[in-house]
Amino acid sequence: MSKDAETGKRKTRGAEVARRIDFKGGRVTVPRMPRDVVREADFPGGADTVNKKFTNPGDASSATIVDGGGPRITPVHVSLIFWGSAWQTDSARSALTNAVAKIVTGRYLSALGQYGAATSGILTRVLFDGSDPPSPTFTTQNVASFVIGLIDDDRLPEPDADWQHLYVVMMPRTTTFAGGGLTGFHARVLWSDYDLFDVDNDQTHFAWVQYGPVDTMTAVFSHELAEAVTDPEGNGIQVAPASAANWNEIGDICASTLNVDGVVVQSYWSALDNACVVPIERSTGMQWQSGIVILGVFASVDTKNAWIFFKNQLGVVGWRKIQPSTPDGCTNVLQIAIAAQQSGRQVQCLITNAGEIVAIQIL
Ligand SMILES: [Zn+2]
Repeated sequence: MSKDAETGKRKTRGAEVARRIDFKGGRVTVPRMPRDVVREADFPGGADTVNKKFTNPGDASSATIVDGGGPRITPVHVSLIFWGSAWQTDSARSALTNAVAKIVTGRYLSALGQYGAATSGILTRVLFDGSDPPSPTFTTQNVASFVIGLIDDDRLPEPDADWQHLYVVMMPRTTTFAGGGLTGFHARVLWSDYDLFDVDNDQTHFAWVQYGPVDTMTAVFSHELAEAVTDPEGNGIQVAPASAANWNEIGDICASTLNVDGVVVQSYWSALDNACVVPIERSTGMQWQSGIVILGVFASVDTKNAWIFFKNQLGVVGWRKIQPSTPDGCTNVLQIAIAAQQSGRQVQCLITNAGEIVAIQIL
């Protein structure tokens, strides 16, 4: 436990702050961006959440997970920090705040329970700090010092007071990463609290996201979030070859991004799915699904039931029940399905929440 100011905590600043920083971090790549737009109806089945799998260039098709036995964060408490005066007038700030809240509290993390990590989280605070980071370039050490300073100023909780914390710093447009090539990074830094009778040494989990288009920043944020909760200190979940020096993590072998409800996120490796995935919510209510090719139509005279055998845009092949006639009695779904199959043309289908096709339109 830490001591509060009354018990004699001595805070340090400047050079001394830098000196007690010992940060280690994970490798981050510039995300490549093969991008799909989610169509939840692409997924037959009854679950509320489904993991959309990706097999685009840059997505691993196999991987070995290495569990170093180190801590995970669950659930995760995200503090979002906008660093720099440029954020004062940057409209991306509110867009990013909304997107981060959606990512943290939504289904994005839900496949990480298999690793003992957070399946959800909360956005505990959003801070704006008008001090300007170094420009035109910054280092991870700059960010680490900044985060430590916020803890010393009691603007962020001490790490031992909220072990599930993750401090994410959004960098302003005025600066780029000095190392080049990286758009985001997560790391740990040792925070030392010098009390009169006690010294606390606690790992602080933090990340930075370089300025860029909002879609890129949200994708990078999601990547760092998934990795930080599974491997906050470099000794948790990694991908072979695991490395204490150069963290090889579940986001690093997946390139695909997905626009989920207007927010772009990056896929991560799911050992259970043996694929790069983004968990998504199944839709509620009817929706149109396009890009379907009907391969076969089958009807039972006895039961008056009918089905189509189809292939969708993602190459998924499956069955769906069709209602031979729509409730209005005007459209014969069965007839249209047969015509579509004979022509080989794509169709779009109106699909109920139960996965039943109630209308077909030839495209
Ligand atoms: Zn990474």
